Amino acid sequence: MTSLDKHDFSLSSEQMYQSVFRLGPSMISLTRFEDGAIYDVNDMYCRTIGYSREEIKGRTSLSLNLWVDKDDREKIKELLLKDGSYKNIEVLYKRKDGSVFNGLQSAELIEINDEHYIIAVTSDITKRKQAEKDLETEKERLAITLASIGDGVITTDVEGKITLINQVAEELTGWKFEDANGKPLDAVFHIINEKSREPCENPVQKVLDCQGVVGLANDTVLISANGTERIIADSGAPILDSEKKIIGTVLVFRDITEKIKLESQLRQSQKMEAVGILAGGIAHEFNNLLYIISGNAELLMDDARPEDEENLQGIIKSTQRGADLVKQLMAFSRKSESSLYTIHLNAEIRNIKKMLDRVLPRMIDIKLDLADNLHSIKADPGQIEQVMMNLCLNAKDAMPDGGLLTIKTANGVIDKTFVDIHPAKPKKLKEGKCVILTVSDTGCGMDEKNRERIFDPFFTTKEIGKGTGLGLSVIYGIIEGHNGHISYYSDVGLGTTFRICFPVVKDCQTVSASDKDSVEPLSKGVETILIVDDEEAITSLTKSMLERFGYRTFSADTGESAIDIYSEKHKEIDLILLDLGMSGMGGKICLKKLVEFDPDVKVIISSGYFEEGLIKENINADAKGYALKPFTRKEISKAIRDVLDKD
Ligand code: ADP
Ligand code: MG
Repeated sequence: MTSLDKHDFSLSSEQMYQSVFRLGPSMISLTRFEDGAIYDVNDMYCRTIGYSREEIKGRTSLSLNLWVDKDDREKIKELLLKDGSYKNIEVLYKRKDGSVFNGLQSAELIEINDEHYIIAVTSDITKRKQAEKDLETEKERLAITLASIGDGVITTDVEGKITLINQVAEELTGWKFEDANGKPLDAVFHIINEKSREPCENPVQKVLDCQGVVGLANDTVLISANGTERIIADSGAPILDSEKKIIGTVLVFRDITEKIKLESQLRQSQKMEAVGILAGGIAHEFNNLLYIISGNAELLMDDARPEDEENLQGIIKSTQRGADLVKQLMAFSRKSESSLYTIHLNAEIRNIKKMLDRVLPRMIDIKLDLADNLHSIKADPGQIEQVMMNLCLNAKDAMPDGGLLTIKTANGVIDKTFVDIHPAKPKKLKEGKCVILTVSDTGCGMDEKNRERIFDPFFTTKEIGKGTGLGLSVIYGIIEGHNGHISYYSDVGLGTTFRICFPVVKDCQTVSASDKDSVEPLSKGVETILIVDDEEAITSLTKSMLERFGYRTFSADTGESAIDIYSEKHKEIDLILLDLGMSGMGGKICLKKLVEFDPDVKVIISSGYFEEGLIKENINADAKGYALKPFTRKEISKAIRDVLDKD
């Protein structure tokens, strides 16, 4: 027991209450209940209201105009009558200067000398009210911000338990706030590495560990409650209180699946662009080389022993395929037009089969299952050959120990019941009759991961030198160019089937594969031809070819000397075979000068570079024909006769 307990405070209570009344931090008033006359107020009251004690004493709250809302007065009066007291009622008071403040009031009826008095204690809570209001507004603003931003936001406490999750985060995670609230983050925010499929480190832990902002690693995949996977980018940061103590974390993330896809498409098209530029760059050189090889082989054919003929034919065919390959690359990357004829697919396939018999190992059986009365399709025979060869060579690679390669054709109809297997890229199919080509193998097949990427340029599972990864992407481009559709079915160990639908056409004349190869007599002549090319091997080869047809020839290795020769011998020279891509003056200017000299000059443009626009432009201008290297003897002799015989 302390010494204070012994004191009798009642003796000084009157004095004590006086002090509390005067010094108390709240406004205190004593009012006669009967007429509302204010008996006394404390200093705080005067200071808050703005009147002096003298001004207040004896007046009523009404006459002092203290009420903003007079109903407040009625309300508290009723409470006092009913209960004799009230606690913490909010009232609005007006000061002497007219300004308004919020008061929190408690009051009691007391009896002094048989009269009822109200003793009321009021605190000015204006600041608190304002702070509450500000907080409310801030909260509202934060809620609107969180709801309207495109990013997912999750906040957690320091234990990593979720305290808030906005709408976007609800969508991305598949969790509603009500269900997620209070759950540990990793129960809701399920992230793994896209490549390894291993769970990623909990970002909350990362933030807490490093006490700062952290970003997520690349290739992070968020798996939502229903299993949807999305690639996300995100960052996490600590939430600090005013003393810079961490009181939680905030996680902001967004779905970048689409962006990544777009980026990869862009990269893909850039790759194709690069291939296009590369192909364009080598096309001229390459085709010149092919021409030299095939031309010389053709010359050899004339004197070849019968047993060598097939080999020479092989060389010639391959150069043609080489030229086609360059053309396809250009066609694919530049989307230049292909030459569509009406063809019979079966005839093309029978032709290609001959080639396959030679290139595929004996362990692979080739089975043709070709439909009778197959509709004609509109297609580029060279491109069809390329599609077939690419598919069959892929099949060969998939069957290193041998197997069965089946090539099948059928008439079909694309209608609502048509079941698509894996399309290369999903698209709406045009309904109507079609020709269906299927190429199946009994090879290794593909797993799901590879299946997704096989149409990507440069995607290959083969060793360097064995695969370019361009085969299927070129096929895809070609089929698109034919308004066709390619899909496939493949599974590990079960083999692979590619199915291509070509729309059927009715119009257009027919060029069948056999027509193309038919043995037509070579067109000969006795005229004089000037061969202009800066490559010696080409001029001498063309010279030999043409001389064997009976023509006389001159040759020039520059544009300048061509003009000199022609101006001197134009009476003798019947036709000029002019290379477009020479160094120095170049074919184009040379052609212009030749025409200036002789408007009737007959020029055939020869080029190893098939910018169709460029060639047509020249022909329209001045040339009479064009020949694309590598041309065969048949082609060049026909082109020459066409021009010479035209008048
Ligand atoms: P490349 O043959 O140069 O690799 P492609 O574009 O032709 O390029 O093929 C891409 C990839 O698709 C191949 O590397 C292979 O993994 C897969 N593929 C294509 N065809 C088949 C098939 N018939 N069987 C199994 N896998 C195939
Ligand atoms: Mg291939």
